[in-house]
Amino acid sequence: METEYDIIIIGAGSAGCVLANRLSEDASCHVLLIEAGASDRHPLISIPAAFSELFKTSFDWNYNSEPQSELNDQEMYSPRGKVIGGCSSINAMIFVRAHAKDFDDWIIGEDDFWSWRNVLPFFQKVERQFGFSIDENGDAISEENYYQHDLTDQFLQSAKKYGLKSKHRCSSANEGAIPFLKNIKKGSRFSAADAYLHPIQRRPNLTIVKNCLVDKIEIKNSKANSVAAIHNGKQIRFHATSNIILSAGAYNSPQIAMRSGIGEEGHLKSLGIKANFINPHVGAHLEDHIICGLSYQIKDNNSLDVLNTNFGKAKAGLQYLFSKSGPMTSNIAEAGAFLCLGESERPDLQLHFGPMFFIRHGFVKPKAHGFSLGPTLLHPASQGYLKLRSTNPLDAPLINPQYLTDPKDMAMLIEGMKISHDIIHQQPLSNRIDKIFLPATEPKSDADYEKQIREYTQTLYHPTSTCRIGSADEAVVDARLNVYGIENLKIVDASVLPHVTSSNTQLVTMMLAERIADYMQQR
Ligand SMILES: Cc1cc2nc3c(=O)[nH]c(=O)nc-3n(C[C@H](O)[C@H](O)[C@H](O)COP(=O)(O)OP(=O)(O)OC[C@H]3O[C@@H](n4cnc5c(N)ncnc54)[C@H](O)[C@@H]3O)c2cc1C
Repeated sequence: METEYDIIIIGAGSAGCVLANRLSEDASCHVLLIEAGASDRHPLISIPAAFSELFKTSFDWNYNSEPQSELNDQEMYSPRGKVIGGCSSINAMIFVRAHAKDFDDWIIGEDDFWSWRNVLPFFQKVERQFGFSIDENGDAISEENYYQHDLTDQFLQSAKKYGLKSKHRCSSANEGAIPFLKNIKKGSRFSAADAYLHPIQRRPNLTIVKNCLVDKIEIKNSKANSVAAIHNGKQIRFHATSNIILSAGAYNSPQIAMRSGIGEEGHLKSLGIKANFINPHVGAHLEDHIICGLSYQIKDNNSLDVLNTNFGKAKAGLQYLFSKSGPMTSNIAEAGAFLCLGESERPDLQLHFGPMFFIRHGFVKPKAHGFSLGPTLLHPASQGYLKLRSTNPLDAPLINPQYLTDPKDMAMLIEGMKISHDIIHQQPLSNRIDKIFLPATEPKSDADYEKQIREYTQTLYHPTSTCRIGSADEAVVDARLNVYGIENLKIVDASVLPHVTSSNTQLVTMMLAERIADYMQQR
C-alpha cells in the first residue's frame, strides 16, 4: 500500500463518501479514504426496517453519554455508524433538507459562502446524485413507491383534521404534516456509500482502507503532514502532500483533533498532550435533537410490531427477499410533521410517527400492537460538550450533551407532547386506539408530561457543532472549513454545523461536503 497521497480523508461516512467521490474526479489527485469500520455489504444494512437491529453490533461505535441530570441520571445510548457509509449505513433514511432560515447562523460577517442562495444548488446536487428529481418549486421529489402502513395514512389524516397543512412528499422542512422522503431505492437502503462511493471505488487514483483506526494527525510547525493509524493491529503512517480532511463525525472528529493537540489548554495538559493549537471550542457547543414519544396500543393486530414475532418476521423476510417489498422496506419513522410555534417560518418541532412501538431505541419490544408519535426539539437551548477520557484511540470519548439543562427546552417539549396527544385523538387514528401504553395513563397535566419526558426522552442521533464554523475567537473552523491555527487541515462533517438544523441531519452534512469539494476543485 502507498503511504503518500495528495489528500487524505479520515472517515468514510456521509461527508467522507461525498468528498472521496468529488475530490478523486481529478485523475491526477491521489486520494486516500480511511475508515475504522468494515464493509457495508451486509444484508441487515440494506433492510430499511432493520436499522435498529444494527445498534450495539460491530457496525456501531456504541457510545453512552455521562448520566444526564435532567433525565433521571440516565446515560444516553448514542449509536454512531462504524462502517463504510458511516451513520448513513445505520440511520433511519429520512431525507430532508435543513430550513432556509437555518443558514442565517452560517454567515460570518459579510461572507455569504453558506447563505441559502449559495447552498441550495448543492442540496439539489446531492438529491440528484441520490436519483431524486427536482420539482418546479426546487424541492426534491421521488417516484419511488415507498411502503406506507395504513396507521401512517391515518396519522396523516388525523394531523390534517387537527389543522396541520398536508404536504406532499418532498425534501423541504417547511411547516406541515408529511410522508417523509427517504433514501430507499427499490425497497433497500441507498446510503451515502451507495450514492457516492460504490460507483467510483475502482478509480485508480482512489485508495480506500477499511478497518483502519486513526489515532491522530501529526502536525509540524503548525502544518498537518501525516496521519497515524492502527491497521490490522499495526501502527501505520500516511503522508499528505496537500490536505488532510477530518470527516469522522461530530463525536470522533473533535476526539481526533484533541489527540492531535488541538483543543482546550487545560484539558490537553491534563492528558499530557503537546498542544499544537489552543482552542477551547474543540468539543464544546455540542447540540443534539432529542425526542420523547407517546405510545398507544391498538385494537387490532395490524401494526409493524408484527416484525417482532417469529412468524411475522419470517413472512416479511421472504417478501423482502423475493420482491423487495412489504413491511421490511419501511423505515419505521414513515411520516411526521414540522411545527412552527412562534413567529418564525422556521420549524421549532418535528414530529416523527411510527406504525409500531418504538421505545428506548427499539430495544423494548412489547408483545402487543401499537404506534408511537413523538415531538423532536429542533433548536435546543441546552448545549453540551465532549472530552477525551484518555489518549488511547480505542477509548470512547466522554460525552455530556447536558440535555434539557435549559428550562426552555422542557417547556417546548411539553408543548410538543400536548400537540402530539391532540393529533392522536383526532379521527381516524383515534378509532384505532385500545388504550394508552406509554405512559401508563393518559397525561393530564404538564407534570405528567414532564415525568414521561424525564424517563423516556432519547437522542434522535443528530449530534452536531463540536467543531463549529465561525469567527476565529468563537469557533474551530473558518467558512472554508479550514481549522484555525493549522495549515492543510479541514474538518468536513456534522461537527462543523454552527447549530443543529431544523430537520434530520444527513442531507445537510452531505450538502456541506458537496459545497466544499466544489470550492476545492475550483482552486
Ligand atoms: C441511528 C441513527 C439514525 C439516524 N437517522 C437519520 C435519518 O433518518 N435522517 C437523517 O437525515 N439523519 C439521520 N441520522 C443522522 C445522520 O445519519 C448523521 O447526522 C450523518 O450521517 C453524519 O454524517 P458525518 O459524515 O458527520 O458522520 P458519519 O456518517 O458518522 O461518518 C463518520 C465516519 O468516520 C469514521 N470514523 C470515526 N472515527 C474514526 C477513526 N478514528 N478512524 C477512522 N475512521 C473513523 C466512522 O466509522 C464513520 O464511518 C441518524 C443517525 C443515526 C446514528
